[in-house]
Amino acid sequence: MFQTTIARESCTAGVGLHTGVGGRVRLVPAPSETGIVFRRVDLDNFPIEAQGHNVARVSYATSLMKQGVLLSTTEHLLAAIYSCGIDNIFIDMDSIEVPILDGSAEPFMQMLEHSGVRKLRRKRRYLKVLKALEVSEGDRRIGIYPAEEFRVRCYVDFPHPLVGQQEVEMVVGPDTFRHLLARARTFCFERDITPLRAMGLIRGGSLENAIVLTQDGIMNGPLRFPDEFGRHKALDLIGDLALAGLPLLARVEAHKAGHSLHTQLVSRLLADPSLWTITTATTGEAVHAEEQAYQTVLSQVPATPGD
Ligand SMILES: [Zn+2]
Repeated sequence: MFQTTIARESCTAGVGLHTGVGGRVRLVPAPSETGIVFRRVDLDNFPIEAQGHNVARVSYATSLMKQGVLLSTTEHLLAAIYSCGIDNIFIDMDSIEVPILDGSAEPFMQMLEHSGVRKLRRKRRYLKVLKALEVSEGDRRIGIYPAEEFRVRCYVDFPHPLVGQQEVEMVVGPDTFRHLLARARTFCFERDITPLRAMGLIRGGSLENAIVLTQDGIMNGPLRFPDEFGRHKALDLIGDLALAGLPLLARVEAHKAGHSLHTQLVSRLLADPSLWTITTATTGEAVHAEEQAYQTVLSQVPATPGD
């Protein structure tokens, strides 16, 4: 198993969900051992590594902060990159927030498909969890446990006729992510819109980039999946787990969790090296099968220049 990067650049542009500020994102190939690194091209390419120690305040989206430089709403883009097994990449941005686009990870998957995968010469390193770690707040909890592959289980429960209890469980890889999660969109409750706006949030929110739940229905149907909400929460979870900085060999179970618990889990995990080891060996055949399936799909994508 070798490290990967993308084969060619791709880019997109749009407004940020919370700031409403427009910006461009360019995905750029990166050498081995780079990891996933955001660069603020409007600030002399200032780098912000997508790693647990750079997590900033986390409320309705995950933000990274390094030396006072902020980068917001990283989770959907990181979920796509991490699920596709891209180890090394520069994400060049000229604004403070990743564009929300259609509220899902689908547009980022399209960028990654356009970019393709390039295998590098260095062996891939995995963060293999050896001992369980759990974090909870009231009836919300999240745990990470030893496993031979990267698997997530995500349970949500919202008191709404279209949501209720939803659960997603899967081995994370390019194909499962593409088919099960990538198209699931951000959602919010109509009753929360005014309070969130008053907090300076969702300034870029619209019916084009978020499902809005009314008292007993939705404002802008149809849904892409009957359980789109649970699927989107699993997408968010994977995007936050990307902050582990290496591919995980672990099983993660989230029960009514959110960005705050997700990132607390990652930070506590990284802070205690007795809980994990770094290895270049996987024994899980599933991981290999996923990788090969992805490369097969990508090889069918015609190479096109530029963005
Ligand atoms: Zn989300």
